[in-house]
Amino acid sequence: MLIGAHVSPAGGLWKSVERGVEVGAESIQIFNQSPRMWKPTAYGEEDFARFREQLAAGPIRGVLIHAVYLVNCASDDPEIRQKSLASLTHSLRVGDAIGATGVVLHPGSAKGGHVGEAIARAGEVIAEALAASERCALHLEDTAGAGGTLGRSFEELGALIDAAGGSERLGMCLDSCHLLASGYDIRTVEGLDATLEQCNRDVGLSRLHSIHLNDSTSTLGSNRDRHAPPGQGELGLDGLAVFLSEPRFEDLPVVMETGSNNNEITAADMALCHELRTRGQAQRAG
Ligand SMILES: [Zn+2]
Ligand SMILES: [Zn+2]
Repeated sequence: MLIGAHVSPAGGLWKSVERGVEVGAESIQIFNQSPRMWKPTAYGEEDFARFREQLAAGPIRGVLIHAVYLVNCASDDPEIRQKSLASLTHSLRVGDAIGATGVVLHPGSAKGGHVGEAIARAGEVIAEALAASERCALHLEDTAGAGGTLGRSFEELGALIDAAGGSERLGMCLDSCHLLASGYDIRTVEGLDATLEQCNRDVGLSRLHSIHLNDSTSTLGSNRDRHAPPGQGELGLDGLAVFLSEPRFEDLPVVMETGSNNNEITAADMALCHELRTRGQAQRAG
């Protein structure tokens, strides 16, 4: 398990690697541009080369790029879809250039419209973005299910992957906070087992390529996306110990997005996760 942290690329793409190393991360996640603006950051070959060099020095072995929040591939507004396509394609090309594990994408929102049609629109945009980039994987993230967001269930994630053409580059990212908020009780070994079985039926666990590790301020099935620092939410220390010791997550980047220092992830947060993983493993063995 590559336990890691979402980090800032401020001051240069390669700086994100340095920040990850500082807190003891084995994987990192970055935004490839300001997450609330459409305008892409113009990185050049030098930035990419320096990033790859920094990465090669170790010990970080997983790199996720989070697509911009504004992206809504499912929008019924053609202009928004066009902008979303451009932004997602840009993220995938940056992913190609830095050798990222994958780009993580919120699949989009139906905004009160017909869900099936929204999934079809999203699928079309995603397929185009894949065609316009070379090899970087795209991980569709499950969502908390607020306000028409797509990806609240494994059925929807499966339908999205089908609608996008089912390419081998398509995978999924599961977020522990979103799972709980969308009604999957993952706080016990039995609950997490049942959840992953359902995931396997509807999508296939071979598509599971990354994990977001967040605690949740909002309750089971609340459909509200409110992250908490590890151990300070509804999942709690025990729930996180179960999640972190899941054998099927063994080879994946498991990235924390919300830490205890004003949401920033600290070395103590990282250490806590390692401790909880060990505790969970002992409980499973015992
Ligand atoms: Zn997430
Ligand atoms: Zn979230």
